[in-house]
Amino acid sequence: MARYRDSLCKVCRREGAKLFLKGERCYTEKCAFERRAYGPGQHGQNRRKPTQYCTQLREKQKVRSIYGMLEKQFRLFFGRAERERGITGDNLLRKLETRLDSVVARAGFAVNRNDARQLVRHGHVLINGRRVSIPSYSVKAGDVVEVASGSRQIKRVVDAMAVAERRPACRWLEVDRGNFKARVASMPDPADFRSIVPGSEDLDGKAIREELIVELYSK
Ligand code: SF4
Repeated sequence: MARYRDSLCKVCRREGAKLFLKGERCYTEKCAFERRAYGPGQHGQNRRKPTQYCTQLREKQKVRSIYGMLEKQFRLFFGRAERERGITGDNLLRKLETRLDSVVARAGFAVNRNDARQLVRHGHVLINGRRVSIPSYSVKAGDVVEVASGSRQIKRVVDAMAVAERRPACRWLEVDRGNFKARVASMPDPADFRSIVPGSEDLDGKAIREELIVELYSK
């Protein structure tokens, strides 16, 4: 599957926000955004005032980057969110959050969503006891996501679990680290979307402005 292969830190710098795409490094002073909080490239420091379209586009690109998705699949998710009842922006974020790779990362079995996707693809993750190797699989309330018993010694899983212990737990997941399991206690609600970008509570919970994505795709 095609995927973004350039520097992840460049994405944060381009979007003008820390998106926590790498894992532990994002919480240290080595974070590229902490050292150079301006756009990448020769003209990164002299950006013009963005147009309305540019603002909407950048918001969409930001969310797409957080979940590591390409345009085609992201558009597909938006289409499904639009067809569901309720507020399209909330539906979209809920769908993105409940992707299997996102849940694996949230549970702390992987340091970031890219790593989580690889774990899923390589068959290290089970849902309700059955192996699922589709990263975009949507989990439901009551599902139990776990690392397969033969995969619990993998170094990156062990390292990720050690890092996750130092982070705040996700409200809608009941994580049993000792047994490498996470139960989806409920579907995430709008209050939970605030934690999509850690620390976003400081920004009135509006680190993600999903309404701009809806406006962009509704043109
Ligand atoms: Fe890089 Fe910092 Fe962004 Fe993490 S938060 S991906 S370290 S720029």
